[in-house]
Amino acid sequence: MCRHLAYVGEPVRLADLLLTPPHSLLRQSWAPCDMRGGGTVNADGFGIGWYAGDPEPVRLRRTSPMWTDAALPGLATSVSSGGVLAAVRSATVGMPVVETACAPFTGGPWLFSHNGLVRGWPSSMAGLAGRLPVTDLLTMDAPTDSALLWALLRASLSDGVPPAKAVASVVTEVAAAAPGSRLNLLLTNGSTIVGTAWTHALWVRALPGAVVVASEPYDEDPGWREVPDGHLVTATPSLVDMTRLGEP
Ligand code: GLN
Repeated sequence: MCRHLAYVGEPVRLADLLLTPPHSLLRQSWAPCDMRGGGTVNADGFGIGWYAGDPEPVRLRRTSPMWTDAALPGLATSVSSGGVLAAVRSATVGMPVVETACAPFTGGPWLFSHNGLVRGWPSSMAGLAGRLPVTDLLTMDAPTDSALLWALLRASLSDGVPPAKAVASVVTEVAAAAPGSRLNLLLTNGSTIVGTAWTHALWVRALPGAVVVASEPYDEDPGWREVPDGHLVTATPSLVDMTRLGEP
């Protein structure tokens, strides 16, 4: 299953965050340690979103494996940002391998990623999807579970629901409609990260002036804390808060 990572805090070079750590997201694209629920590599594309001064982030997505992108090391060495969300993808069986299916998904100031799968896709989602305006469905990035989760979450954020509440509602509603789903979500606006651990691994590490939330620790620092399954984490450089959502 995909691996993802979000960072907010002091500006960091993308290369120092994503490429050079001993167990970086780059390494996790071909040698992840803790894949659950199928998949061995994350070679169906990757995406990186970052904030570059505007409220709306910049985004790069590719269908090639992260390790084959010859332009990435140079780009990642020359770009620094104080808010990053990146993902490497292992497409769920039956879902298209296209650039637009790769996280992060965007809308306004948000970057979003989903690690997991919705059971019974797509019929299990008919009820929840039916609540969305038809235009939201027609403009989904890709016909995938992750893109629908983003459409549901984005609709709730646009209604003014606070991010942690919006993420918690999507997870609990989708889990109720499609039991057995794997719903590790990451959402950021560049200053706060909201994440969920719902049958996949998730870790958080506070750094001096920054915080990172990731599927797998990118190094062996003892400061990494595992987010317990069934929990939501809200993280800023000065606060990490975990609350229980329920039993996956
Ligand atoms: N189901 C999602 C997709 O196919 C996420 C896959 C994953 O986490 N491996 O894109």
